[in-house]
Amino acid sequence: MMQKFFDLERIDAKKRSGGERIKDFNEIYEVFSVNKASNQSARCIQCGDPYCHNKCPLHNLIPHWLKATANKDLELAFALSNEPSPFPEVLGKICPHDRLCEGDCTLNDGHGAITIGSVETFINEKAFEQGLKPMIQTKMSDKKVAIIGAGPAGISCATFLLRKGIQVELFDKQARAGGLLTYGIPGFKLDKTDIERRVGFLKEAGAIFNQNCEVGKDIAFEDLIKKFDAVFIGVGATKGRRATIKGADAKSSYLAMEFLTAIQKKNFGEEYDKSIAVKDKRVVVIGGGDTAMDCVRTSLREKARAVTCLYRRDANNMPGSKKEFINAREEGVDFEFYSSPKEVLVDEAGDIIGIKMIRTELGEADESGRQRVQEVENSEFVVDADVVIFALGFDPVKYDFLEANGIELDKWGGIKVDKNYESSKSGVYAGGDCHRGADLVVTAALDGREAAKAIAEKIFA
Ligand SMILES: Cc1cc2nc3c(=O)[nH]c(=O)nc-3n(C[C@H](O)[C@H](O)[C@H](O)COP(=O)(O)OP(=O)(O)OC[C@H]3O[C@@H](n4cnc5c(N)ncnc54)[C@H](O)[C@@H]3O)c2cc1C
Ligand code: SF4
Repeated sequence: MMQKFFDLERIDAKKRSGGERIKDFNEIYEVFSVNKASNQSARCIQCGDPYCHNKCPLHNLIPHWLKATANKDLELAFALSNEPSPFPEVLGKICPHDRLCEGDCTLNDGHGAITIGSVETFINEKAFEQGLKPMIQTKMSDKKVAIIGAGPAGISCATFLLRKGIQVELFDKQARAGGLLTYGIPGFKLDKTDIERRVGFLKEAGAIFNQNCEVGKDIAFEDLIKKFDAVFIGVGATKGRRATIKGADAKSSYLAMEFLTAIQKKNFGEEYDKSIAVKDKRVVVIGGGDTAMDCVRTSLREKARAVTCLYRRDANNMPGSKKEFINAREEGVDFEFYSSPKEVLVDEAGDIIGIKMIRTELGEADESGRQRVQEVENSEFVVDADVVIFALGFDPVKYDFLEANGIELDKWGGIKVDKNYESSKSGVYAGGDCHRGADLVVTAALDGREAAKAIAEKIFA
């Protein structure tokens, strides 16, 4: 049944054409059919020491659910894929597979890695279609945990606490749960109903979601400490970075999250900052990561006249997922590599007219082995633009309640935790981007899961 990689080649999930998909915010990939999922899974060679499993931050039981999928045993595949993961269908869509499980697949040596992400999404989408639900403990203890932030870290923590029979109450400052899954990652990568469905399962199991509730403003952190057996902090790291260049704060110069959140809120029909608009404008996005790709692709869907991505290295050295770069290119984004911003140019009225750039080249490798970027003398040039978007990374927000409660931060502003995800304040745990700095959904999911285990051990001790 398995090891069919000689007879069957890797086939990725079908996607809509670039021209078609920029007309809307719908997902671009199709979900595998039953036969395609079974055939693609049957290519797996069932390694004794599976590198894919080791490389997946959650240590997903990949070879096991591939075998079950090859055998068309959907119930088993669904149970196996949900055991270590709080939302496998989501991760199957948005993990940078080429850098994680698929990158380390033994067949990724010319045969073509197994399409792990697409099979993971298939298993769950198909199972939901057939009415299957993830197993959550229904008999609850009287123990209660407060979770600050209903993003991937918080939702993961809630999932695994509920499975241990611990009641959870989440507090989130946004109108909807999901964190960056909801207000950052655009709908063409992840359908928003995926998150609503998972939140629905948690609510059915008794989780209480308090939206529009900012801890430190609408409710005191100290009250949570008093009322709950433990507190988990998963508040993310969404403070954007602007380039320190002249004109960087001109009007129509936005931070990536300001832009993406405004458009997402518009798509939800929520209140948003209407001054953030790119229709018929020439948009320049500075940065080369996944967030930059989300900004350029969102700009196209918002009917920008032209969209250019400026990055100081080249395509091979972009920090994000290759797949997202290819998708952006197919949709019509222009890329200007080896270029670094020097000044945002404005006219007398303060409107942006362009951006002055300088050519770069790659020099000696630094301590991490990555080649340093250096500017090429006298190589300035101007790119015409009406809107500039900075997608240059994120830092944690420093909340007063952390310092006021003696919760130690590292030098980047991340919450320090021990091996059990407990902060310097006993009973207060943290995970996800607010601990690691801006990272991935899958690592936030891991932190939430591991913190939940540690919390359960401590409060049931
Ligand atoms: C544009 C963009 C695209 C990305 N694309 C990908 C991708 O394709 N794949 C991938 O793996 N990762 C991606 N990431 C990274 C990923 O989204 C994050 O690593 C992940 O969401 C971190 O999860 P988290 O739960 O730690 O934080 P967040 O998702 O930021 O959630 C934090 C939650 O805390 C809430 N909150 C904050 N402060 C308070 C407070 N004081 N009181 C109450 N609630 C509060 C917020 O409202 C939010 O809901 C992307 C990030 C961005 C910005
Ligand atoms: S969670 Fe991410 S890394 Fe793990 S198997 Fe799924 S797609 Fe791969």
